[in-house]
Amino acid sequence: MTLLSSNLLSQYLQVSAHFTTRHGGVSSSPYGTLNLAFHVGDNPQNVLENHRILADRLGYNPVNLVHMRQIHSNKITIVNSTMNFNTPPQCDALITNFIDTPLMVMSADCTPILLYDPTKHAIGAVHAGREGALKGILPKTIEAMKQNYGTAVSDIQIILGPAIHGCCYEINENIAHEVKEKGYEEALIRVKEKVSLDVNTILHIQLKALGISLEQIETMDECTSCHCHDYFSYRADAQHTGRIAGVIVLRPLPS
Ligand SMILES: [Zn+2]
Repeated sequence: MTLLSSNLLSQYLQVSAHFTTRHGGVSSSPYGTLNLAFHVGDNPQNVLENHRILADRLGYNPVNLVHMRQIHSNKITIVNSTMNFNTPPQCDALITNFIDTPLMVMSADCTPILLYDPTKHAIGAVHAGREGALKGILPKTIEAMKQNYGTAVSDIQIILGPAIHGCCYEINENIAHEVKEKGYEEALIRVKEKVSLDVNTILHIQLKALGISLEQIETMDECTSCHCHDYFSYRADAQHTGRIAGVIVLRPLPS
């Protein structure tokens, strides 16, 4: 299995944060091989086995993992003790301060984001495609961590995982207009008659507006569409594809 781990979070012993790739699972084409999503048409037994393999590798109980039925919204769920693998809430962000309760965000081009507050010991997982980013899902999640766990923006550590970049995300003029109206013109890339969008630029603008410094942000630099042999890409794979995931879990504090 090939996993990407966060450099930014490697200094913290109480958290484990990773992103998956296509590699290391049991699913076959077009879900080959480590598809983690049930809703994309893959054999559910294979998806379950992929979750088991990942949980084994990262050392958590797969039943404790909370994932989401993602809907490109700005809806956040605060994880409670009744939630588990079999009851994914409908939302696009999860936050918790529970130990040994992994949070998972799935994606194929959208930006999977993992959040960690090393002071208050809280975590988050966010799904931000164009729609979610424009609806402010990321700043809203940081605000929810502030409200629920007392997270200070100066403490929060943010990892933007593998996502489609401006090189591959062509959009139409209507969307470009909306992006510009919302104040994110910087995220538009114009080459001749074509216009493309870099969602990570929107996210960076939002984080800067909150006063979050670049040292608090890690951005994975591979574009999922350019590197669709390593990642699932909704665009590059013509919509029939699996999902990679970002997964973050709090470990017990040393006693
Ligand atoms: Zn690209």
